[in-house]
Amino acid sequence: MIQPAARTTRRGDLPVPGQRRPSDSAGAVLRAVLDHGPIARSSIARATRLSAASVSGLAGSLLEHRLIREVPEAAGPPGIGRPHVPLDIDGDAVAVIGVHIAVPRTTVALLDLRGRILAQRQDLHRDKHPDSVIAALIERIAALRHDHGARRRVLALGLATGGWVDSSQGTVVEHPALGWNDVPIGAALAGATGLPVRIDSNSRALLRAEQLFGAAAAQARGSAVLLFVGNVVDVAFSSGGVIHQGPRSAAGAVAHLPVEGCDEVCSCGRTGCLQAAVSERVLVRRALAANLIARPDIHGIVDAARDGSAEAFALLDERARLVGRAAALLHDLFDPEVLFVAEGGANRLPEPLETVRAQMRPGVAGTVRASSFPAHVLATAGGAVALDHVYAAPL
Ligand SMILES: [Zn+2]
Repeated sequence: MIQPAARTTRRGDLPVPGQRRPSDSAGAVLRAVLDHGPIARSSIARATRLSAASVSGLAGSLLEHRLIREVPEAAGPPGIGRPHVPLDIDGDAVAVIGVHIAVPRTTVALLDLRGRILAQRQDLHRDKHPDSVIAALIERIAALRHDHGARRRVLALGLATGGWVDSSQGTVVEHPALGWNDVPIGAALAGATGLPVRIDSNSRALLRAEQLFGAAAAQARGSAVLLFVGNVVDVAFSSGGVIHQGPRSAAGAVAHLPVEGCDEVCSCGRTGCLQAAVSERVLVRRALAANLIARPDIHGIVDAARDGSAEAFALLDERARLVGRAAALLHDLFDPEVLFVAEGGANRLPEPLETVRAQMRPGVAGTVRASSFPAHVLATAGGAVALDHVYAAPL
């Protein structure tokens, strides 16, 4: 007897695809120009495996939108037929806004398509309530656009912060150090600025920046881990170039990883958490108590160490040892091609980075690097979230 045919699978029966976007050909062309420009159309076709006709059409659209430009070819032997006019990123016509929210302050920056900071401002919070921070951000973004971005078309706004950031919903789910819960900041900023807005965690944002523009971009596009250490601590990892988000983007919460020998009380109420042990606030408080610094932030401690203060060095070294132990554990878990430590000391001084490396198991210290953006970590983080959006689907 013939069995009745099973019901046809319909679109609604299929699992919802994950957060990976479909590959966008214009994005592939723009990334090829970013990586290899100035580059001829024929070479873009080879790099992207697109047909010459597709590349020509997409390049035309990208030129029209002034994301790329034609550059005069370097003098060479005269060719036959139509000259190859190489293409490069247009650094002058467009920009993105990068926003970062730290525990004490906000950073608002304007960046070009290469992730270069064109202008930025940092302001202490007047009040840490989400409504006040968002209202202040809207003013600062408008001021920055007015003062520095008037001649450029702004393509997108990216925001990075600590805690649990749900990038698919544009919500800061939990930021205990700021006392925030379920803040729909993406929609608030999109409504006020009229820009496409994307948000993500510090560590995922900085890993994306490493993949796009970093000094070890090739490895970062393979498998990578990025450990962000500021007042908050979070981690991101990627495999096959894809940064893992997890359900509701909850991956990367290492703030409460237990560490030995720490009696600081954490925001979770316990002692012995990594975030409490290495938090900038704790470090700055100790440096102030010992009268070591003039400027009450991590840069003040780095400056004091650079000026020869052994006590400031010891503070940074102790922190680097704790960060290194966490990094070693993460390295054992993921075995990445590269592990970035975005930490104020290691970013600017060789010794704390060496202390971090010294905690790793033998043979892998060489895969540990500081951030590629030591002078502008926070602005770069926010900007990378926006640029990720632009490079994914530029048209
Ligand atoms: Zn804790």
